[in-house]
Amino acid sequence: MKIALLAGDGIGSEIMAQAIKVLEALRSDGLRIETEAAAVGGAGYDAARDPLPEGTLSIARAADAILFGAVGGPQYDTLPRAMRPEQGLLRLRKELSLFANLRPAVLYPELASASSLKPEIVAGLDIMILRELTGDIYFGQPRGRRETEGEREGFDTMKYRESEIRRIARVGFDTAMKRGRRLCSVDKANVLDTSILWREVVNEVARDFPQVELSHMYVDNAAMQLVRAPRQFDVIVTGNMFGDILSDEASMLTGSIGMLPSASLDAANKGMYEPIHGSAPDIAGKGVANPLATILSAAMMMRHTFDRADVADRIEGAVRQVLGQGLRTSDIWQDGMRRIGTVEMGDAVVSALAHR
Ligand code: NAD
Repeated sequence: MKIALLAGDGIGSEIMAQAIKVLEALRSDGLRIETEAAAVGGAGYDAARDPLPEGTLSIARAADAILFGAVGGPQYDTLPRAMRPEQGLLRLRKELSLFANLRPAVLYPELASASSLKPEIVAGLDIMILRELTGDIYFGQPRGRRETEGEREGFDTMKYRESEIRRIARVGFDTAMKRGRRLCSVDKANVLDTSILWREVVNEVARDFPQVELSHMYVDNAAMQLVRAPRQFDVIVTGNMFGDILSDEASMLTGSIGMLPSASLDAANKGMYEPIHGSAPDIAGKGVANPLATILSAAMMMRHTFDRADVADRIEGAVRQVLGQGLRTSDIWQDGMRRIGTVEMGDAVVSALAHR
């Protein structure tokens, strides 16, 4: 297992250090893990005047999977766009053709009160949002601004080719097969031609997956259902723009940004794994960041790139055990729980792992 470690900026190095401890524990259990670290984002700019230095890109290319921390910081906000830290992330996704973005929204029963929704609606929530990442209105041409009848006009183009829809639909069905075997495809087929094609192609792919129960939902309804009765979903598959919005909505159902991992995969299941949160400059260097989203990203890596669901289950079980022991970083702390720092949380997971 060749893993590139790109910690990035802000709390990136603190949370990455905890995930590395977990990987080291797995290595001493016999997993053949090789890691190589490289600079990205603001750290890449500081080291090589480039948010994605050439050396970092080649390490990422050579790896089977990438564990990514977070990028960004106020000191980089005034750089020209091409030099900004987030360009490192966007270019990596593009260079590696990572078209499938998997965002689980899991609410551990111990954290049910962290959600702004009533606990009875969200307790035990476990859904997966699959967002297409390289097409749709975010990349469609033509786009731009022009002058029309004496006023300014902005325009973008929503489009999907059937091959793009087919490959993300396949990931959706495959993902559903590994979970509860229910897939909900979200579109706006009552209004958009792109969505009518989307629905057609998803239905075609469904023929290869008779064990998966497929449903379709309009995006406006999906946005409502996610807050009304989110547990009705197992896997949701959708395009880039709808997925952008729905995945953020779904993650907030859990109320704890420090807990949520994500994966972005290519056609061969090579992937980049990262917490959904940013570099949190407000708490960087204080030793209080929650490392669990990054540790859970490593678990996703075991499941999706290395096909080791057993190892992923072990890591996720260790995290659950630590929460069950009442250990909490500040972001998820509640009355009666023990408040601990980043390093202690990493140590607690490693120690729970040893007993599983
Ligand atoms: P953020 O996710 O970094 O922080 C939002 C809030 O959540 C902050 O109060 C932060 O302290 C808290 N938080 C985030 N992660 C946490 C963790 N692991 N443990 C405890 N608390 C945590 O978002 P932001 O403040 O909007 O952005 C900060 C920087 O991060 C910006 O430069 C932004 O561009 C960048 N960013 C990067 C990514 C990425 O690398 N994928 C994603 C989002 C934002």
